[in-house]
Amino acid sequence: MFVIGTIVPILLLIIKIRNMSKLNGKVAVVTGGNSGIGYASAKEFKNQGANVIITGRDSGRVQSAAKKLGVRGIVADVQSLEAIENLVVKIKNELGKIDILFVNAGIFKPAPVGQISEEVFDHQMGINFKGAVFTTEIFLPILNEGASIINLSSINAYTGMPNTAVYSASKAALNSYTRTAAIELAPRKIRINSVNPGPVSTPIFEKTGMEEEQLNGFAEAIQDRIPLKRFGQPDEIAKLVSFLASDDASFITGGEYNIDGGINVNPLLG
Ligand code: NAD
Repeated sequence: MFVIGTIVPILLLIIKIRNMSKLNGKVAVVTGGNSGIGYASAKEFKNQGANVIITGRDSGRVQSAAKKLGVRGIVADVQSLEAIENLVVKIKNELGKIDILFVNAGIFKPAPVGQISEEVFDHQMGINFKGAVFTTEIFLPILNEGASIINLSSINAYTGMPNTAVYSASKAALNSYTRTAAIELAPRKIRINSVNPGPVSTPIFEKTGMEEEQLNGFAEAIQDRIPLKRFGQPDEIAKLVSFLASDDASFITGGEYNIDGGINVNPLLG
């Protein structure tokens, strides 16, 4: 009786620790890991046992986030192919190959049709699509067999939300790349999937330059259309990303996962 009473809690503890360490021994890179969904995912990866590197554009922000997370931070602007190449060389020299690539860096710059400037187009496509594609392209030589790539897309890829024509197109293009890449990377057992979040509470909206009052109105209107009647939290997205990064998702590739409080069902009532 005494033995069972001692062994059972120890076994339960071992099971709990094993479940919390799904990414043990894996090396993970998170682009745009100093803020929002990227930051929360880097934290989750680390909690699950991975060795994590975060990147971002701004040295101060990257270093302060890296320090808080207890991970390595490297500055690399995904608009520059040379910066991505230098990032890959650094990681290869320090850690060798990697197992998880979370292609998360992105921006949101609303502009109405008829007022889409070349600058707005190039900036959003340059980071959200070109930056994402070349992140994968340049990282490919240092991805281990069995690696997982997760592209952070958006439910906007499938909506007609006003003022988001270019943003939405950048994410739809990314999802299309994901599907084809899944076929071509399968022989190396590399899995690649897209995550399509609905609205999530992160600093991305403040960076649009909208006034606080405008932002609050926008948030209220959107929230009202979400069946769960709230924005998602970055750590909720991080849980899905971390699942796709893990070997628990070993049969999942070329997929897209909505995580949106139900907004994608497009409810007519409710
Ligand atoms: P955020 O602004 O908090 O984070 C964006 C991150 O991307 C930051 O770390 C930023 O430094 C980085 N970044 C931006 N441009 C970069 C560049 N040129 N080079 C390197 N890093 C760069 O916003 P977030 O909401 O966490 O956004 C993360 C991703 O989630 C984006 O791809 C965004 O499109 C997507 N997304 C967000 C929402 C939402 O509601 N917040 C919904 C769907 C999809």
